[in-house]
Amino acid sequence: MWPIDPDGFEPELHPGDGGAADDAWMFVVVEGQMACIAEQGVPRPITADELRWVDVDIRARHYLGRFRGRQCYAVHAEGRLPEGYSVTGLRGWLGRVEPAVFYIAGRAQQVIDWHDTHRFCGRCGSGTEDHAADRAKVCPSCGLVNYPRLSPSIIVLVHRGDEMLLARNANWPTGMYSTLAGFVEPGESIEQTVHREVEEEVGIKVRNLRYLGSQSWPFPNSLMLGFHAEYASGDIVCQEGEIADARWFRHDDLPNVPPGTAISRWLIDDFVRSLGDAG
Ligand SMILES: [Zn+2]
Repeated sequence: MWPIDPDGFEPELHPGDGGAADDAWMFVVVEGQMACIAEQGVPRPITADELRWVDVDIRARHYLGRFRGRQCYAVHAEGRLPEGYSVTGLRGWLGRVEPAVFYIAGRAQQVIDWHDTHRFCGRCGSGTEDHAADRAKVCPSCGLVNYPRLSPSIIVLVHRGDEMLLARNANWPTGMYSTLAGFVEPGESIEQTVHREVEEEVGIKVRNLRYLGSQSWPFPNSLMLGFHAEYASGDIVCQEGEIADARWFRHDDLPNVPPGTAISRWLIDDFVRSLGDAG
């Protein structure tokens, strides 16, 4: 399930001569949500040809690149879509479209959000311009350059023998447990973040970190870096206001855990697999 293989998407900045082809996929964002056509309950992007007949106000259009040869655009629109089109949160695409399409939709939403929030320079207030060679915004007055914003964060499965530590966030429904996660702070290495977050959230120390892979998580702009870590010392003390409960679980006695679309589940499944390999 780790989407580390090339998935057929080739990022590009310019579509070349002729602009958008009729069959280009337009990832249309309306009021922060993705517009689509649902075919038998499965969302798919609107094509350029279909969008031509829809009476919405296009605020911005960004070329993203090609997916298996097909052009992909991010489109920021305003207005009401006619019958036959639906508008859902990006989470509604997760697990219902193939992973590569979900990640292009996430890319589209993040590029639109970045464009919309960087129209003016944060330092001098002048209107910004698109960079000629990169996906970046340049201030013509003071030269400040802004790239799309990404927030790296760690997610870690802590294990002790054949048990894994899973925690329940204070805001989650009862019975739902997952691996620990947290954002990287300025000046930190990723490894330092893992040690700090585990200690802050559950009060224990870990060792022997192992990096397994990453997942783009566009809610709104995270990049999740996934680890396994071995328990070293300490007793569980839950961080007040953040962690409602944290416990050691055996693989054959797991609580409700996230679905297979989330990196936390891939970390859990990898650990369970490693037990099988060892046994
Ligand atoms: Zn400026």
